[in-house]
Amino acid sequence: MDQIWNVELLNELMGESVTEEIVQTKIPGHNGLDICVWKPSLDGRFTAATAWDATREKRDQLPWHEWFWNKSLPKKVSMCNWRAWFQSLATDERVQNKGISLATACDCCVPKARESIDHVLVKSQIASRVWEFASRLLKVPCLMFNTWKAKISAWLICAKKSSLVGNLIGLLPSIITWCLWTRRCKVRMEELKISAIKVWTSMKMWLKKMAADLKVHRQLYKQDLDLLYELNLEMLRLVTRKCRLVTWSRPLSGWIKLNCDGSCRNNPGSSGGGGILRDMDENFKAAFSAHFGLGTNNGAELRAMLEGIRLCKSLIFSKVIIESDSKLIVDWFRTGLFSCLFPLLRHVLFAV
Ligand SMILES: [Zn+2]
Repeated sequence: MDQIWNVELLNELMGESVTEEIVQTKIPGHNGLDICVWKPSLDGRFTAATAWDATREKRDQLPWHEWFWNKSLPKKVSMCNWRAWFQSLATDERVQNKGISLATACDCCVPKARESIDHVLVKSQIASRVWEFASRLLKVPCLMFNTWKAKISAWLICAKKSSLVGNLIGLLPSIITWCLWTRRCKVRMEELKISAIKVWTSMKMWLKKMAADLKVHRQLYKQDLDLLYELNLEMLRLVTRKCRLVTWSRPLSGWIKLNCDGSCRNNPGSSGGGGILRDMDENFKAAFSAHFGLGTNNGAELRAMLEGIRLCKSLIFSKVIIESDSKLIVDWFRTGLFSCLFPLLRHVLFAV
């Protein structure tokens, strides 16, 4: 940092002997700006994951990536969907498109049709029936789609992470895609006969395997319980949040308390924040609110704190207690990790 080592931070992270070795190692100098080679995670740790993140070549995220790459899904299921998205599942049509002459006949319809990704995963008789079962179960409109992408997108618009039904709407398309594709491969390679009902049963088995990892916040409603019964899922882990009563306490005599909060619609997204200043007798001293534009949730919390501190400075309050509901930011201040973490924090410190 600033062309010299932050010895204090190195000591803390690496220990004294390693720090000494690092400081004594001569690095070929360069006169340009510092280059980021390794960033800490939000909780201040340097990990293999953050090193990979700093050095890897980043591509645009897939639409619906939070569902395709959802942690509850086995990686091979995610990969299958990722390949379907990029039209790279090896169907007859794909082989023909490579210029290889091939007679094509699907294994899912009578009469047989040309085998393409959209046919196997959406339009075929088997796929249509499986999607129909799913639509009836989750009450997602069973509309006619000619492409897998359009079908998946229509489903995932209805998905949400806050409810069990919403989660299943998000995850089921990936599992159905996987089951339809594995059906196609088994029929082709092993000459098995697999009906739509069998595909649906295997989809339920996959869901059962994943149920232990499915976390659902909030309570379960009747429609959730009906769905669990229908899918024969009992092993669902409910995450209940503990309630804690939080009250405002008076600052000491002569002190002012700043309560500030920032929020963000989506993360990142439109952000804003505000705060209020009161003395020990609960007298209102000042308040503010502001729109910060596009930002992150932690950025908004920090900006709200910064605006609050600026307000204190302008009113010449020097004895100020700051209260924030962001555990992350409070921990940064407590542990002293803030100096290297967030450019905005430097402004906060500067404002103090
Ligand atoms: Zn077919």
